[in-house]
Amino acid sequence: MEALLLPYQIHPHSVAKDRRPEFQELPEPDIHILTSGGLRIPVHSTILASVSSVLENIINQPEKHRSSKKVVHILGVPCEAVVSFVQFLYTSRCTEEYLRKYGIHLLALSHVYLVPHLKNRCSKHLARKLTIDSVIDVLQLARMCDAPDLSLSCMKMVSSHYKAVQKTEGWKFLQEHDPWLELQILQFMEESELRKNRCRRQRKEQRVYLQLSDAMECLEHICKEGCTNVGPRDVEPTKKPCAKFSTCHGVQLLIKHFATCAKRVHGGACWRCKRMWQLLRLHASICDQSDACRVPLCRQFKLKMEQEKDGKEDSKWKMLVKKVVSAKTISSLSLPRRKRAAAEDTTSGDRIRSFRLQCVEPNGSVL
Ligand SMILES: [Zn+2]
Ligand SMILES: [Zn+2]
Ligand SMILES: [Zn+2]
Repeated sequence: MEALLLPYQIHPHSVAKDRRPEFQELPEPDIHILTSGGLRIPVHSTILASVSSVLENIINQPEKHRSSKKVVHILGVPCEAVVSFVQFLYTSRCTEEYLRKYGIHLLALSHVYLVPHLKNRCSKHLARKLTIDSVIDVLQLARMCDAPDLSLSCMKMVSSHYKAVQKTEGWKFLQEHDPWLELQILQFMEESELRKNRCRRQRKEQRVYLQLSDAMECLEHICKEGCTNVGPRDVEPTKKPCAKFSTCHGVQLLIKHFATCAKRVHGGACWRCKRMWQLLRLHASICDQSDACRVPLCRQFKLKMEQEKDGKEDSKWKMLVKKVVSAKTISSLSLPRRKRAAAEDTTSGDRIRSFRLQCVEPNGSVL
């Protein structure tokens, strides 16, 4: 066989440029790789065997099972793809140009000859270069070559560009020849839609728990040091709005209402009072201060919960408490350390046990 023109030579001299010690003193190549185009690539059996266990098996096969002891056939892919495959076996490197030109062939070769590093590189490269026209072909190849990451990338692309993909030749071919895969793609799309909805719902719920957790913080801070117009009788509220004033203001409005609501005074309950009542109960459920807590009704709620400890507290409420506590933990973990220390500081030591809210109207009158 003639030696074809190669883009570069696989030869001990070119490999010897590699600085790694294992390539410094290579002996003469002892076998050849033969490609579909008739190209013979001189190679070292030891190197091939050290990188690929499949090639090792082929090289070590008894002679009668091989056409020639000195030749390994790598057929069915372009010669240059085989050349860059061999280059990778020697150097663990593959240029972007070769990945671009022969990525799919190299993926197949790395799968057949068990070269995981190359397979990984090809998978990533192909996933990066996916196009609407190529995605179905690459998906089929990825499944044949057992490349789950690449399959997933293809599935995601098909599902986000479904209308455009449907117009491609690849899709038409798939519909005719691989209805099973078509079904799997449709199932994937349905599942990912469900997943998206679930995530959306969870994010929404998490936002609500975080808001409740913020409301709990604001409630404690209003009852302890006061904020703008509302605070305990013995403390002058800070005039400057706090960092969470949008939530704090809402809690303040509820407190003001709760203190003056005519319905509540007469034993009824409006929705605002009910909400305030729930906030106070929620506070008591998560409050870990013993007698020092300054939030109204905290002790009473705790006593009531103590009496009902035999499991009467409904499970929905317990779940709500748990979620609010975990939302609080998550939000406190995301605070910078300095702010966290300051936040911890404000929860310590307070001796006043009796508490009545005062709501200061903007004109200064106390409600
Ligand atoms: Zn505030
Ligand atoms: Zn009311
Ligand atoms: Zn409390």
